[in-house]
Amino acid sequence: MLREVTTTVRIRLHSLTQRKESLLSREYSTFQTAVQDATSDVNLYSATSQQADKVRSNKNPRTDTMQPVVLRNDCITIEHDEDTVLSDWWFKVPVYDPDRGQGNSIWCPAIVPDKDESLMRDEYLSDSELVYKNGDWYVHLVCTRSVTVNEEYNDVLAVDMGAKWIAVSTFLSDRDAEFHGKRVRDVREHYKQLRKSIGNAKVRQGAQVIQRLGDKESRTVEDALHKTANEIVARARKRNAVIVFGDMTGIRFDSDEGRYVNDKTHKMPFAKMANFLTYKAHLDGRECLPIEEYDTSVTCWRCGSQNTNREVQGRIECHSCGLDDSADKNGASNIGQRAVGKDIESPLSTAGAVVAQPETQIRLEGLDDEIESANSPDDVGLTFSEGSPRVHSWE
Ligand SMILES: [Zn+2]
Repeated sequence: MLREVTTTVRIRLHSLTQRKESLLSREYSTFQTAVQDATSDVNLYSATSQQADKVRSNKNPRTDTMQPVVLRNDCITIEHDEDTVLSDWWFKVPVYDPDRGQGNSIWCPAIVPDKDESLMRDEYLSDSELVYKNGDWYVHLVCTRSVTVNEEYNDVLAVDMGAKWIAVSTFLSDRDAEFHGKRVRDVREHYKQLRKSIGNAKVRQGAQVIQRLGDKESRTVEDALHKTANEIVARARKRNAVIVFGDMTGIRFDSDEGRYVNDKTHKMPFAKMANFLTYKAHLDGRECLPIEEYDTSVTCWRCGSQNTNREVQGRIECHSCGLDDSADKNGASNIGQRAVGKDIESPLSTAGAVVAQPETQIRLEGLDDEIESANSPDDVGLTFSEGSPRVHSWE
């Protein structure tokens, strides 16, 4: 079973001659004009000009933002060259050359992170972006390749991306749970306090420091998300488990509002987390699937009742069967059960039942060999065949 994995590698262009620098600058600023004004008559590399039209119609960018120049994959090349003193890597950028009055390409020395060197193959390159930041030129190289993922597993590792923790992962077979990423809360709290204290200092200085803190904070949060995703994949590997996660990008039930909402404040970091988790799992040869997560936080995992309350923070209590459990762990259990086809509104399990260690394997079916994008949050419509773990009564 093949999955397409996409990763973005940030390479920095360096040691640019004045001519190359000015051609890049020209292309970049001309691209800004083109994405803002459909009637502008500007000269860009022809493939890049088409990309500008797309950015304008798809994104309708605000005038106060700078848009990265989109480079079409068939117009870019990256090459390794050991013999050149100046640089190990060279990246070919398509630009319009006003001296020639036509499109041209310039080879720029580039720095590629060591860990990403194996991705530097033409056949992996997708449309990429030229970015100018703090006086430096970068290319965000989008690398796409196919990996094979297993079709048979011995367990399900269900992930609930909660509010208190970045994620809680629970094995379906025995509900062994792990809480991931407490540190993000600490980091956020730390920076919040710092911001408050800086806010009292001189306004102008304060604003600059806050800006820098913002960058540092988002990097730290991103690191924590990577770390969490790595932990979850390693955990799944130990038991040969398929990973499923509650898809927060859809609607969710807000118990305070008493209705379904599409909570945008939750959307972004969780979408990032879902993306990291999915591609890391696929690189590990492991399937990772989004599961609709509506009702999973308000439903009792043990008896399926929604007669529950979450008045005590981080806990869920079930009035029907008396369950008193961690709210996040409860959510993850419901996600795992839904993944194996159990309707949590009328569950197979009766009150007091627990899920035993599965003896049958979990086999993914309903898949053809078509390559699915790893980075789409859409449900890929898999069904689990045998392998719903056996249920036995809790005596
Ligand atoms: Zn219950």
